[in-house]
Amino acid sequence: MSETTRRLDPLDPRPLDGRTCVVTGASRGIGRSIAYELARCGGDVAINYRSSAAEARDVKEVIEENDETAMCAQADVSDPDEVERMAAEVHEELGSVDVLVNNAGITIDRRFEEMSHEDWQQVIDVNLGGTFNCTKAFFEDIQSAEEGRLINISSVVGQQGNYGQANYATSKGGLFAFTRTLALELASTGSTANCVAPGFVKTDMLEKVPERVQEKIRARIPLDRFADTQDIVGMIRFLASDDASYMTGQVLGVNGGLEW
Ligand code: NAP
Repeated sequence: MSETTRRLDPLDPRPLDGRTCVVTGASRGIGRSIAYELARCGGDVAINYRSSAAEARDVKEVIEENDETAMCAQADVSDPDEVERMAAEVHEELGSVDVLVNNAGITIDRRFEEMSHEDWQQVIDVNLGGTFNCTKAFFEDIQSAEEGRLINISSVVGQQGNYGQANYATSKGGLFAFTRTLALELASTGSTANCVAPGFVKTDMLEKVPERVQEKIRARIPLDRFADTQDIVGMIRFLASDDASYMTGQVLGVNGGLEW
């Protein structure tokens, strides 16, 4: 009974107090908002980025100004050696990791006819390979955490496919199978793995899509608007918290009602 009471305490403003969280690709966009939200809930947050050092420092500063704990954690997630080095830095500064949010992702959009092997490989290496590398580096931590959480950020595009995104859609679809498999392999430890599939979100990634294509996409969204990054973070907060203890292997759409 005491466990249940603790999980459902609606007055607890810091449900992630004492948890260490890693958010990949947290210097900008959705990842930055996730980092703020996990810190707001009391988590100590490692802000991973590849090259936006100044932006990552800004995120750290904002978190620290709010009397929470954060560190910058540089690594190209597609490079296993860099990820291992980053994991050692996170362990040194924040200790064992409870929550890993695999959010870092890129697009290189082209119709299939024009898509080169390199366009394919780069996107697969970051979106899918990066998730593998980071999960590998923190798997033991998540397994041994009391309430370990693996949260993978996919996309509605992984469910629907999308014109000009064979590489991206495949990488995001692969995350569903990866998540379900990891959920099974983690289950005996009580830790969970879930996947969030956002719709189209106002970030630099969406900015790269030509205006006329954006208009076409928007016309298909029942809620008739693109998401703000804040529309996505509530689901991550929930999955990271003890309230989601009995939820694993799921793909959760946050997409304004887009059918797939
Ligand atoms: P974004 O604004 O372009 O930000 C991408 C973030 O990922 C940046 O912090 C970037 O860091 C980091 N990153 C990229 N490549 C990296 C690498 N190799 N290693 C480490 N970090 C790397 O993207 P976003 O729109 O916030 O997207 C975040 C995630 O949500 C992605 O997985 C994306 O596929 C997914 N998503 C986005 C949308 C959307 O409409 N925006 C919809 C559904 C799903 P640097 O600046 O240092 O490179």
